[in-house]
Amino acid sequence: MEKMDKIEKIEKIAFLGLGGMGAPMARHLLASGLPLTVWNRTAAKARPLAEAGAVLAATPAEAVRDADLVLTMLADPEALLAVAADVLPALRPGAHWVDTSTVGPDAVRALAARLPDGVTLTDAPVMGSVDRAASGDLWVLVGGPLPGPVAGVLELLGKVTGCGPVGSGSALKLVLINAVIGGVAVVAETLRLGQALGLPAGLVRAELAKGPLAGAVGRVFAEGSHFPVALAAKDVSLATDRAPLPVLESVRAVLTARPELAESDLSSLRPAG
Ligand code: NAP
Repeated sequence: MEKMDKIEKIEKIAFLGLGGMGAPMARHLLASGLPLTVWNRTAAKARPLAEAGAVLAATPAEAVRDADLVLTMLADPEALLAVAADVLPALRPGAHWVDTSTVGPDAVRALAARLPDGVTLTDAPVMGSVDRAASGDLWVLVGGPLPGPVAGVLELLGKVTGCGPVGSGSALKLVLINAVIGGVAVVAETLRLGQALGLPAGLVRAELAKGPLAGAVGRVFAEGSHFPVALAAKDVSLATDRAPLPVLESVRAVLTARPELAESDLSSLRPAG
């Protein structure tokens, strides 16, 4: 009830980007009773949301016109820039833009420098996959302003952690997701080592799960997640572009070595059997 009190003055929320994450997030907000207008580059993905009660927009500009709050959940910095070109001139003074994509701090700060007068930008990338997006159990890492209505909406998506000025949520997101991706890659490789040494797979998994990599073991065998390998490779590139990280450079080589896995969940790195 408290969350809804904070957002009761919002008359229009635009949600742009209805992929694996955006669609369940938008559906969750819609189910919470928020007035949602949706847009997606591939229009067919927006239709189920329209059938559930969202207003369908034909372009990003049409979606954000007169919106109090704009949420974006897009693949990468290129997608965010492409959408921003259409969105920026259409935002009304007083609008709040909240980007939940994983694009790194540089893209967020570049976008913040281009905002029209009277518009705020908050980066709010998320940890947690499609299953947590659907249930409103994400971990939301916030950089920049967090006015009451923005906080109210983000609290519907999950647990909100303030990180500092604009871009800091995206910076922390890169740190956390690279730790997860690296951990998954190491666990997948040590499972392969266990196979090569002739050990039973169940024994190796159970014993690994008792140690400090327990969380990564859980992610390697997760069933409700869908984090495509190609997006994981993008997150590692965003990190290795910013600092010398030789271990993560090797992880990126592993992630890009098998293009047939690009759209599969990160757990597909584990060996068969
Ligand atoms: P996705 O299913 O691939 O969806 C990507 C979205 O971006 C789609 O709506 C896509 O539109 C849109 N898009 C891509 N290029 C575009 C462009 N040039 N112009 C306009 N729209 C464009 O990815 P996702 O799993 O939802 O992930 C979205 C973001 O969240 C990524 O930054 C990812 O790293 C991050 N994330 C993902 C997970 C996860 O478990 N999947 C978890 C946390 C964070 P189309 O439908 O037209 O392709």
